[in-house]
Amino acid sequence: MNIINDFNIVVIGAGPAGCQCARILAKLGYKILLVEQHKTFEKNDFSSAATPQETIKNFNLPETVVGSYWQKISIVTTNINHTWTSQKTLGAVLNFAKLREFLAGEVEAYKGKVWMGCRYIRHFQEDGKTIVEIRRFGGEKIVVSTEVLVDATGYARAVMYEKKSSQPEFLAGVGIEYLIEVEPREYDKYANNLIFLLGHKWMPKGYSWIFPMEAEKQRLKIGVARCNLEHKQIVETKSMRWYLELLIQDYMKLEKYKLIDIHGSTMKYSVGLKDIYYQDNVIAIGDAVSSINILGGEGIRHGMTNAEIASKYIQKYLQKRLYNFRPYQKEIQRRYAIKWNICEQMARKKYIQDSDESIDRVVKYLKSFTVEDMMNILFEYNFQKLYKGLGKYIQRKLKLVWQQFSNFFN
Ligand SMILES: Cc1cc2nc3c(=O)[nH]c(=O)nc-3n(C[C@H](O)[C@H](O)[C@H](O)COP(=O)(O)OP(=O)(O)OC[C@H]3O[C@@H](n4cnc5c(N)ncnc54)[C@H](O)[C@@H]3O)c2cc1C
Repeated sequence: MNIINDFNIVVIGAGPAGCQCARILAKLGYKILLVEQHKTFEKNDFSSAATPQETIKNFNLPETVVGSYWQKISIVTTNINHTWTSQKTLGAVLNFAKLREFLAGEVEAYKGKVWMGCRYIRHFQEDGKTIVEIRRFGGEKIVVSTEVLVDATGYARAVMYEKKSSQPEFLAGVGIEYLIEVEPREYDKYANNLIFLLGHKWMPKGYSWIFPMEAEKQRLKIGVARCNLEHKQIVETKSMRWYLELLIQDYMKLEKYKLIDIHGSTMKYSVGLKDIYYQDNVIAIGDAVSSINILGGEGIRHGMTNAEIASKYIQKYLQKRLYNFRPYQKEIQRRYAIKWNICEQMARKKYIQDSDESIDRVVKYLKSFTVEDMMNILFEYNFQKLYKGLGKYIQRKLKLVWQQFSNFFN
């Protein structure tokens, strides 16, 4: 076998989690290879990439990766429309391609290797080494060896699971997004604002959105996402494209726009966080271990935080101060289990149980909330203030989740 290179760490998947993990470990001086199946980051530019302001600061991101900033949040249901406004910037809509390009550029700046257009095929052990087979776009097979292998392949979980059939039970969703260019007066209507459309009219079993991108090009991201489960009340839904057209024609009433790109992807969240986190010297991070928050489908900063935590353990493992990644799994589960499970219950309630009237009722109740309260709910997943208005059913469910996980960890 012709092994062309030995690495300390091979990271498969150059999403936010894989890039951040490679960035940290390359900076520490480890010999790193980051492998991505797509030839460019524009090829799978699938994420809406809205994120609170802390992401920019916490991960030291430059202005160049920001598409636009926002300081308003709007929620539109079938019958209600409300906007919460702040005096200060609340967050950004990132340019997802530029974000990963920047992070991968940092990996190279710290002397790490980044191989684009290369697909992970399989790995196995030989003579005490982990051998990784990769296929370059066009067919050439490349073989490398590594001390630690990282599965950062997102929902695919391509390294940890050889067969899809052995993967755990998922709560899954699909999203499609258009990147469009509009007239300046149209752009101004949507500038600085994250608009979520929650009513059944707009996207049963999910939600739609309008996010601002580069102001100088008057670009907007408009999208729809829905979950894979059956709704308790809605029997029939139309195609995702149909709801996108509805958004354009009925809500935005756009007479003219230019379609720049259509993209989309899948989200797969393991119910009860049952993913495999590690196996010998293989460790999984980001969406591959359900770091995505399934209530709103927000996963960029969580994947990057997860990568930071994983990097700490990978470093210890390479220094032989740790002999397996069990403490990593414990730390991640301790951090996410309760909150993520509560969000899962909320997601099930919102996406597959609630009637249109109850969605209206919740948003009507939210009207009295401040913008800080809304940030707390949408980005801190802190529902204390909301519980009071949600009625006995959800309060009981959430209490159960809390008890179940408290027992598990104590
Ligand atoms: C439509 C949509 C909208 C979203 N909007 C937001 C949002 O507004 N804000 C937010 O925070 N999050 C959002 N998310 C979620 C967010 O994008 C993900 O949670 C995040 O990208 C996960 O990062 P990751 O690095 O774990 O995985 P990914 O970003 O999925 O990266 C995995 C990478 O692995 C590569 N890969 C897979 N298999 C192989 C293989 N065999 N060989 C080599 N490479 C491989 C893939 O090509 C991919 O580049 C959205 C998701 C979707 C689908």
